[in-house]
Amino acid sequence: MKMPSSFALTPLGGGEEEAAPALYDLIILGGGPAGLTAAIYAGRAALKTLVLLGTSPGGQAASTETVENFPGFPDGVGGAELAQRMQQQAERFGAETVVDAATAVDFSAQPFTVKTFSRTYRTRSVIVATGAVPKRLDVPGEAAFWGRGISTCATCDGFFYRGKKVAVVGGGDSAVDEALVLTKYADQVFVIHRRDQLRATRIYQDRAFANPKIRFIWDTVVEEIVGDRVVTGVRLRNVKTGEQSLLDVDGVFVYIGMQPATDLFKGQLALDEWGYILTDRQRHTSVPGVFAAGDVQDYLYRQVVVAAASGAIAAMEAEKFLGEFPHPDIALKKSEEKVC
Ligand code: NAP
Repeated sequence: MKMPSSFALTPLGGGEEEAAPALYDLIILGGGPAGLTAAIYAGRAALKTLVLLGTSPGGQAASTETVENFPGFPDGVGGAELAQRMQQQAERFGAETVVDAATAVDFSAQPFTVKTFSRTYRTRSVIVATGAVPKRLDVPGEAAFWGRGISTCATCDGFFYRGKKVAVVGGGDSAVDEALVLTKYADQVFVIHRRDQLRATRIYQDRAFANPKIRFIWDTVVEEIVGDRVVTGVRLRNVKTGEQSLLDVDGVFVYIGMQPATDLFKGQLALDEWGYILTDRQRHTSVPGVFAAGDVQDYLYRQVVVAAASGAIAAMEAEKFLGEFPHPDIALKKSEEKVC
């Protein structure tokens, strides 16, 4: 099979690192459910696989107290435990894992280069599964109560607020959509928005305005999240009048936007206008041999089970890609033979 021109074998630049950086079939960037599921599939496919787990392994899932909607766990499972089990499963099938994160990548030529805090690797394919992080309010009390009354996932945590009062912060699609989800559980849902108009699409707005459980608090920002062991309320300020107030709530859901972890890939992979990696259904990115899976390419579903499935697809596609384009050293030898 003919190698595409973008697959030209180029010597690695730099030279300040080790002489012959390790060569992998596949490097997976990210140790959340997408990355670890990809590693399970890659390991089983006997690909020489390295997972860079990042600096906080497990991704967003690991900071979720209990995952109740992952199939196979009727009593729920701790997010950290689930991630740990996925990692063990990947390692069992031969994937190497390391707590380290990419600091630079070069996808311009095969083999690709991935630099981390500690060393440089070469790889024939990459799965980007670096995820996305919810933007934070950055107000007092937020860090202390994160996971103890503050959440960014109504689908995951709404159940804990049956019959209670919750606040949703934000005015976009996520805030309004998730406020609607929360009305299935909570008695009252306050949507706190910094302006007097929602950013959310009309259909969500209409549904929310028609829902008797939702009350909007306009022109208002959260200045502090208060509580004792868990959240008990939010301190608010009206940005037009300056008036301050305390709203008693049992939970706070923050939806002020997500930040895909894609800074590293700007200029290397095609991103959409919000910075998410553009992929097709097979998780191919704009560069052959580079795949993306999970929240880094999907702003819509953001579920552990969806990310895991996404990782599986990416790994199967990586395996197919590697089968189509043989090992570069072998390819080089063959082409040299032909020339001779
Ligand atoms: P978003 O559209 O960026 O909305 C963020 C909201 O948070 C805005 O209302 C913004 O206020 C507010 N906000 C931002 N920073 C804030 C701060 N520091 N303090 C208080 N409020 C703040 O984010 P998103 O809702 O997560 O949606 C992201 C993308 O995903 C969008 O393109 C959206 O359409 C898409 N999405 C689609 C669906 C769907 O189609 N079902 C569901 C969810 C998300 P301002 O309005 O004043 O800027």
